[in-house]
Amino acid sequence: MSVDSLSQMISLLSDVHSRLQGLRNAPAALLKTSISFSSPTIRNDFEKAKLLTETIRSDSVQAALQTAAQSAATHSQDKLDLNIRREIRKRRRVSLFLSRSSVLNSNSRPPSPGSPQPYVPHDHRNASLFPSDVIPPLQCHDLPDYIREFNRTHSSRLHIWTRVRGSTQLGNPAVVRFTIRDVLVCYITMEYSTSESVLVTESIAAFGPREKKSPHSQSDYLVYQTLSQQIARMLQSHPRVSFQSIMNLLCAYEGLFIERCATCERVLSAEGHVPPVARVWMREGGWEARHISCAQV
Ligand SMILES: [Zn+2]
Repeated sequence: MSVDSLSQMISLLSDVHSRLQGLRNAPAALLKTSISFSSPTIRNDFEKAKLLTETIRSDSVQAALQTAAQSAATHSQDKLDLNIRREIRKRRRVSLFLSRSSVLNSNSRPPSPGSPQPYVPHDHRNASLFPSDVIPPLQCHDLPDYIREFNRTHSSRLHIWTRVRGSTQLGNPAVVRFTIRDVLVCYITMEYSTSESVLVTESIAAFGPREKKSPHSQSDYLVYQTLSQQIARMLQSHPRVSFQSIMNLLCAYEGLFIERCATCERVLSAEGHVPPVARVWMREGGWEARHISCAQV
């Protein structure tokens, strides 16, 4: 590939990136103020989003993104690694934006099947949805031992939940109850196949510590409803995340009602009076609490 066409691709992507940055605050502005959908600013933002979507879907930008991805795969081991990772993250943000703007704009075509759409939080300090897994994902026959060890080493509690009281047989789907005293109860529903016994998390439902609800119902409280929705979005982006990573995440909710949002430094959000229910994994610094609206800006 010639230097000319490469530099052309880079300037194309830089342009897309800066237009995208310009629009990043639009969803938050929409949430934070009471201006109506018909306001000229909002209409203008929607128009910009639509135009940007078209640019990103154009053959030239798609080709540039593909070249970037191939180059990343080839050079992932060398010193360019960091910069390329940034490029990939940029690309993911572009895809995320695409998927969001197609929700907002029902007339636009859905993204092409090949385009990846993982949710990657916007941050400069190596943020990711989950810590990267270094140990093999837990299998169903290892669950009892895992639970015993967990309860021995943590202040929160894990139990296998069964429909029939007193039964110890692990069902499929298997349900595990996770409790942080006076903070929350979560039911984690997992499935496994007989050939591959790795536990795959299907859903997580959060409840208040004193709510008596079944694992597949919904909490009566907004904070736990929002928390369940937030975790559902994370699972959707990482459907094969290990049970250990899930537990790592859930333990980060111990300070649910006292931890301040890392972005706005408040406990209760300005809009919904809900504490920071989003958790973002920072490679330097562990889990960070954020309000949902603050995590997206
Ligand atoms: Zn906040």
